[in-house]
Amino acid sequence: MDLSTCYCRNRHCKYHGLIGDAARLRMSGWHRGARRLKCLECEHWISARTGTAYAGIRTPEDVYRHGVRQLAEGLSIRATARNLEIDKDTVCNWLPRLGRHCWRLLDYFFRALHLTECQLDELWTFVFKKEKHLTAFEKLAGRYGDAWIWVAFDPVTKTVPTWRVGRRTLGDAIRFMKALKNRLDEHIPFFTSDELPHYADALLEVYGVMRTPPRRFPRGRPPLPRREPPPDLVYAVVIKDRERGRVVHVTTRVI
Ligand SMILES: [Zn+2]
Repeated sequence: MDLSTCYCRNRHCKYHGLIGDAARLRMSGWHRGARRLKCLECEHWISARTGTAYAGIRTPEDVYRHGVRQLAEGLSIRATARNLEIDKDTVCNWLPRLGRHCWRLLDYFFRALHLTECQLDELWTFVFKKEKHLTAFEKLAGRYGDAWIWVAFDPVTKTVPTWRVGRRTLGDAIRFMKALKNRLDEHIPFFTSDELPHYADALLEVYGVMRTPPRRFPRGRPPLPRREPPPDLVYAVVIKDRERGRVVHVTTRVI
């Protein structure tokens, strides 16, 4: 484990945030299988695992590492637990921690990405049970039922710059597009999607610029400013013609 990036986490310490030789840290034994350091200035303890995917894990490091690899390869929670001979609840507890850590890593590394092409799509799935089987109370709670995974994919570099789990609504489409824009540089990629109308609205909302159209009549109320697509925004819809559930013809339409 690389200890050169460890730093004192006490915000009131004057060595807070300093790493390497600038920090005043001393090795101070082990805690739950991880190296522990101590700040010589404020005597604050620092675990070498803080801020890593191993933070808060009580399972032995090699077992955890194997488990994470199996989960990343798509193995189920129960299968991973059986393989490692551990409780399935333990594996279940890893997942949200791992998810949050992966999301933070994506936030850190995926900045100002330069994409020339971006495919937008949404995949259907469900949480706990399908929408049609929900009771009235479960519908009201809004925790279970149909869920949609919004995915942005760059076919050139095979990158997934962002994704979002939510509903298939315009609000979710706008939040997804905003998250995508935050990860890209100034360049607007060529967008393609299916025929869902939310994409065009969300692209206009996120990339559109406010313009006031010229007055057409000298009298009356002046026109209000409205959102218009910038000239470098190119968006095409892929139309799939289906017969008995099979795609028989694909056409594109530039919006
Ligand atoms: Zn300190």
